Amino acid sequence: MIARLFAFVLCISLPAAASANSIKVVTPKGAPKITSEYRSMKGVNGLRRSSRHQGIDIPGPNRQPIIAVANGKVLDVETGSCWGPTLMVDHGKGTDGKRMIVLYGHLGDVVVKKGQTIKRGQLVGRLSNNHKKFKCIAGVRHLHLQIGRTARMTNRGNSWGHVRYLKDGKRGVNPHLYWADGPGQVTCFRKGTNYPKGTITHPMPCK
Ligand SMILES: [Zn+2]
Repeated sequence: MIARLFAFVLCISLPAAASANSIKVVTPKGAPKITSEYRSMKGVNGLRRSSRHQGIDIPGPNRQPIIAVANGKVLDVETGSCWGPTLMVDHGKGTDGKRMIVLYGHLGDVVVKKGQTIKRGQLVGRLSNNHKKFKCIAGVRHLHLQIGRTARMTNRGNSWGHVRYLKDGKRGVNPHLYWADGPGQVTCFRKGTNYPKGTITHPMPCK
């Protein structure tokens, strides 16, 4: 009875913990590292941000392959004035039944097209040497990965960054909730592995 009660308390306390990003994050060996965390005030360049980070930043070398974090459908591909090439994918419902609209920001080239169905682990784009060209990449070549619930497909106007693509861009969702190995357990994509529906794997290949 006590064990069951404890499990229940754990279960209901998770969403609150998630919003404060108190989920303990464990990165497996060989996985490209997150250098600016979800909700962090510290930028990928080490400087203080003007507002809390709504996604995660993962630096990589020129031509770094970016792979799909789950199966999905490409909603849009666009080069933002500040963000640079951006890919928006509907990755379906997460393990909590809520939709995962994922932004892959600060790319170099994008190799998938709007409307295309993609598979987890599939190459979707690469990083490039444009980190000094686009202001939002902040001089450090990296991927910005952000999850939202509602895509903004029309009336984008002159808005830029996450609010250009997500109606809830200013309220990013904690990506650590959805790793295939469990909350906080960053999961590498391994070919031939069957991952649970509603989960994500690392957006870069692991060593
Ligand atoms: Zn970022």
